[in-house]
Amino acid sequence: MTTHPQLGPWIHRPLVAVDPDQVPFWDGLKKHEFHLCRCRLCGRDWFPFTVCRDHDDIPRIDDMEWVATSGRGKVFATTVVHQVIDADFLDEVPYVLAIIELDEGPLFPARLVECDPDAISIDDRVEVVYVDSDAGHTLPLFRPEPL
Ligand SMILES: [Zn+2]
Repeated sequence: MTTHPQLGPWIHRPLVAVDPDQVPFWDGLKKHEFHLCRCRLCGRDWFPFTVCRDHDDIPRIDDMEWVATSGRGKVFATTVVHQVIDADFLDEVPYVLAIIELDEGPLFPARLVECDPDAISIDDRVEVVYVDSDAGHTLPLFRPEPL
């Protein structure tokens, strides 16, 4: 069993209702790669969208490809969770939920780990942490980049 010192048994729950369009994203995570959907026409990366919204006339899925990206970005917004209704999370509060502005552009919602919730600020640099689940998937969490 892969564990993370800050995370409870909930990481081993199965994923539910994964959109078929997002399967390549989750397959990338299993390889510890952070994939985004890139437009072959303009090079822009998207998540969770799988078509480029920059071309009114040709937003074709054939023009898109999933590619491994940096898995890095900066904190765009945060909230600190102090109360939970699921007992699996009781030992983890307070914890930080954040919107990450990835270096490639898209905004990505994620749990922050390995940090003091009171010490996280907007624009702090963060990087992905891959947490393997016994349920057969890998979760993309984020932590502050080492200084
Ligand atoms: Zn494009």
